Amino acid sequence: MKKQNEWVRKSLKRKKKEKDRGIVDLMMIMHHFFKELPLWIDEMKDPRHCSYITYSQCDLIYMGLLKNICGVKTMHAMEEQFNEKMCIDTLRILSGDNALVEMPHSDTLNYYLERLSPECLAGLRKKLVKTLIRMKSFQKGRLLGQYWRIILDGTGLFYFKEKHCDNCLVKTVTQENGTKVKTYYHKVLEAKLVLSDRIVISLDTEFIENEDEDISKQDCETEAAKRLLKRLAEDYPRLPVCIQGDNLYEAGPVMKMCRQKNWKYIFTHKAARQKLLDESYEWIRQGNAGVRLDRIGKEKGIGEYVNHVEETAGKEETANMFRYSCAVKEKEEKREITFRWLSNIELTEKNLEEMIYAARGRWKIENEGFNNQKNGIYDIEHLNSRNGNAMKNHYLLTQIADMIMQIYLAWNPLRKEIKQSIKNTSSRLLESFRRQPITDEDVLYIQRYTTVYLE
Ligand SMILES: [Zn+2]
Repeated sequence: MKKQNEWVRKSLKRKKKEKDRGIVDLMMIMHHFFKELPLWIDEMKDPRHCSYITYSQCDLIYMGLLKNICGVKTMHAMEEQFNEKMCIDTLRILSGDNALVEMPHSDTLNYYLERLSPECLAGLRKKLVKTLIRMKSFQKGRLLGQYWRIILDGTGLFYFKEKHCDNCLVKTVTQENGTKVKTYYHKVLEAKLVLSDRIVISLDTEFIENEDEDISKQDCETEAAKRLLKRLAEDYPRLPVCIQGDNLYEAGPVMKMCRQKNWKYIFTHKAARQKLLDESYEWIRQGNAGVRLDRIGKEKGIGEYVNHVEETAGKEETANMFRYSCAVKEKEEKREITFRWLSNIELTEKNLEEMIYAARGRWKIENEGFNNQKNGIYDIEHLNSRNGNAMKNHYLLTQIADMIMQIYLAWNPLRKEIKQSIKNTSSRLLESFRRQPITDEDVLYIQRYTTVYLE
């Protein structure tokens, strides 16, 4: 009996998979959400000398995007995997370059990315993001029905034993035997935009790097954040946003910057970082002047808050502070943990639960976001080129590909119906890009499909 059930389940799964249109559906999603993508790619300033141009910018950019989406991790593997007649035919439809007869060589892509200004791809991403923000589908992802959540998060990308370029950051680590070893590395600061619980995309990127090697003070995440926030205000002047980040940002200058730009913020609070605020919070709380709500959140924990702690602490910037304590199970052991935050959004009994959910979500996104990009289908730590400019462009291509991929994943029925993993979904796209012919009927479907439901 059990075996029979198993057979029925397997055949159902197979039937569902047979309906999967692979690359055709990816193209449909791209067309539906970003109809103008080919135009926008064409508009970028082509850095190549016109006598060398065999491939259009669309040919190269789409190939780079597909490398990421299909989970092809190295340039060499791309060379092998994409050397198929179907790949050429599909790329021709995607890029609209009727003269395309061969797949571009990986060196050709790198040659182009070494010369293309990263501002072009950053500008392209901005157009894609603005398109999504204008869509109705993502409006309900806003905090308290108003604020787009933007999460600041930095991470290390590439590490070298020897100096790689003049912009490398450098740190000296003392090993166990006492010898000092220098490490050269590149870091990046991301501003992620939360569109829904499942779709969190790259809104902007600031590369953390030294301007030249003879610099007295190294670039760091806080300095990079100032540059990024300044650009954000210029690029999205009227967007109602809530900036989120770890306790690195719980500091006067960043909070002041947010106030001046009319932004909301939620930052992780650490007692050692804002001592006066922390002591004032405790003092008010002990006087029973705080508000406490029991059995809230997924874990039925305790939430509490005090508004305007800055007045008691004699500080300039608004600090509405809140906490959440709950029991978590770690390796069979139950443990009580407390999360702490501060914000310039006025806390109420009504919004506390949503505020806690949003504040904790940041932690989840940081861990899953970069972790997915490092260990999942993309491998952003792999060096596709040693050239500093191409490194940035490869990184930005991955962020744009990830935006498209997340929307495709949120739409994909197989993800919901048979719980197909991200990795398998990506592998199926690769398989279909290499083997599946795109018919005229498919092209009509790609252009005609009008209603797209995302989970
Ligand atoms: Zn370097």
